[in-house]
Amino acid sequence: MTTRARPAIAAMAYHQGAFVPFAEAGLPLTTQALQYGTGVFEGIRAHTCADGGKLVLFRVRDHYERFLRSCRLLRIETGHTVDELVEITCELLRRNGTTADTYLRPLGYKLALLPGTRPGVGLSGVSDALSITGFPMGAYTPPGGIRCTVSSWVRPRSAAIPIHAKVTGGYVNNALAADEARAAGYDDAILLDDRGRVCEASTANVFAARSGRLLTPPATADLLPGITRDTVLALAADLGIETAEHELDVSDLRCADEVFLTGTGIGITPVNEVSGHPIGAGEPGPIARSLAHHYARTIRGGGDVRHHHWLTSVRIDQG
Ligand code: PMP
Repeated sequence: MTTRARPAIAAMAYHQGAFVPFAEAGLPLTTQALQYGTGVFEGIRAHTCADGGKLVLFRVRDHYERFLRSCRLLRIETGHTVDELVEITCELLRRNGTTADTYLRPLGYKLALLPGTRPGVGLSGVSDALSITGFPMGAYTPPGGIRCTVSSWVRPRSAAIPIHAKVTGGYVNNALAADEARAAGYDDAILLDDRGRVCEASTANVFAARSGRLLTPPATADLLPGITRDTVLALAADLGIETAEHELDVSDLRCADEVFLTGTGIGITPVNEVSGHPIGAGEPGPIARSLAHHYARTIRGGGDVRHHHWLTSVRIDQG
C-alpha cells in the first residue's frame, strides 16, 4: 500500500468544552482511559463538494449516534446530544478554516477518579471528557487495490469485549493484527473468529462478490457493523446488485470473484490477494469499481438525491 506521511493535525481542537490550539490540549498521565483503555472514538469524514467550494460531512449523525451508544456502554457522559456534537464539529471545521478533505476523530474518555473513588479499574466514580481533533486526509489506499493476510490474532467475541462499539482498549486486537500483517509485507489483516469465520479487517468490513452477488458477514457477528458497509449495501441496491449477509470463511474469500474492504478511512478498497492467493483476476473487479465510483460521488454530494440526507453542509466563512 502506498503509505503517506500523516498530514499535520489541524491547528485547533475541541477539548473538554472549549476550542483550543491543538498544542495546548494535553492530558494528565493519570488519565484513566490511557491506563485502562476506557475510551470510545469515531472516525468521521468531511469532503469538499463535487460542485466545488462547500464542505460536507458524510453520515455525521449516524457516526455520533454510534458514538453516544459506545459512550453509554462505558458510562461516559458527554453532556451532548447528537445535534450538539454535529454543531461542535462544524464549528471546529470553521475555526480551522477547513477547505480540504478532513478526517475527524471524536474521543470520549474516562479522565480522573472523583473524590471518594478507590483507585483501580472501573467506570463509575470516574469523570468523563470529550475531545475532537481533525486532520487533512484524502484517499490513502491505492485505487489498484491492496494485499491482505489472514491474521493469527483471533477477533474477540462480543461477549468478551464490545466489538460493536468503538472502544479504544478493544483496538489492541486490531493493532496487533495490522502490525503483524505489515511486518509480513501485507497491507492489512483479515481477522477470523474462534470458529474460523471471517469477521472484518483491522479497521474495515469485508465484502466478497460471487457470481454477481455481494456477500458480507452478518452485523450480528463479532465485528463493527460499519456505516460504510451500510452505505455499500444501499448503493448496491440502487445498482441492482443482489446482496446478502452471509457467514464467510477463508475459502469463500479465496474462491470469490472479488473481495473488497469498506470503512470511513479507506472508503471502498479492492483486495487483490489474500495470503498469497489472488482474488479473481488479481485486480479490482467490476463490482468494486462500480461501487467505489458511486461511493465517491455520493460522499461529495454528487450521488442520487435519495442519499442527500446523508450529507451535512458546513458553512465555512473565508474572511
Ligand atoms: N471495523 C472496524 C474494526 C473499524 O474500526 C471500522 C472503522 N470505523 C470499520 C469496521 C468500518 O466502519 P465505518 O464504515 O463505520 O467506518
